[in-house]
Amino acid sequence: MTARGSQGQNLERTIVVAEVLGYCWGVRRALDLVREAAKEKPVAALGDIIHNPAAVEELAREGVIPLPDLEAAKAAGFERVAITAHGAPPERYRESAALGLEVIDTTCPLVTKVQRLAQRLAQQGYFIVVYGDAAHPEVRGVLGWAGTTRACAAKQLSDLPWNGPRGVASAPPPRKVAVISQTTKRTDQFLAFARQLAPWVLPHGGELRIVNTICQPTWERQEALARLASEVDLVIVVGGRKSSNAARLVEVAREFGLPGILIETAQELDPEIVSRARRVGITAAASTPDRLILETIERLVSFGFSPPTTLWQEEEPEVLDFIDC
Ligand code: SF4
Repeated sequence: MTARGSQGQNLERTIVVAEVLGYCWGVRRALDLVREAAKEKPVAALGDIIHNPAAVEELAREGVIPLPDLEAAKAAGFERVAITAHGAPPERYRESAALGLEVIDTTCPLVTKVQRLAQRLAQQGYFIVVYGDAAHPEVRGVLGWAGTTRACAAKQLSDLPWNGPRGVASAPPPRKVAVISQTTKRTDQFLAFARQLAPWVLPHGGELRIVNTICQPTWERQEALARLASEVDLVIVVGGRKSSNAARLVEVAREFGLPGILIETAQELDPEIVSRARRVGITAAASTPDRLILETIERLVSFGFSPPTTLWQEEEPEVLDFIDC
């Protein structure tokens, strides 16, 4: 829709869609694996296969039922359990076997890569610091693969076990420290954290190894959003509230000084907020189904926005370059 303002300016309201958004190939792969498995018989998913409620509901209708743990799956009579795309610690596989449950493993290969890296670094004597959310299933799984008590999750110096509450050293840090990241974090924040860590570890004759394990699809979505930031005055992120990479996209939008709104469905779009915008940017988390993105665009069009001139393309799988450590 195009109109003319009182000064004769063009008042067309437009939608700009990020060049890269929505399902990453790791998520598509996980969904394909469980869907295929559920065609034979129902599968219990150990948690949400991906962090998007609409996708989880759709899967449940196809026979992929989320349950909290192995005991619940066994008690409900399931014969097969699915490890989610976020991965799981090694004991989950052993316990599944002990209970006679077959495992459908949908762990993203990029998460597997981080798990194996943590394991090797721990074997080489490094204290492992995973930059990430301690309660996130991916982080818990990576720490499990490290297989040592000399490992922790941290987002700030005060989270480190050798520091006091305000980041003040309460004990000497380990001499060899390796820092890796949850795959869905932001590179700039990960590097800032690693930079803060260096003065604590290196002056003690120590060694600090930093490996950027943020996955390429996460990084590409953040970069694509940064590219469109100068063209829009509002950013809508379509994604689950539990999704780490959706939360990071909102942060990126706000750092460009833009209002960043997270919605799980098009129905959550507030017409009042949207009415103040002329150019709306749309992005979506790596776990957001295409349908939800398209419905958001349709709702914006119903509010008077012109349909976008281009949509996004499905990405190709990344070549797996396992890190030699
Ligand atoms: Fe894999 Fe990255 Fe997608 Fe997570 S966001 S499923 S790590 S590709």
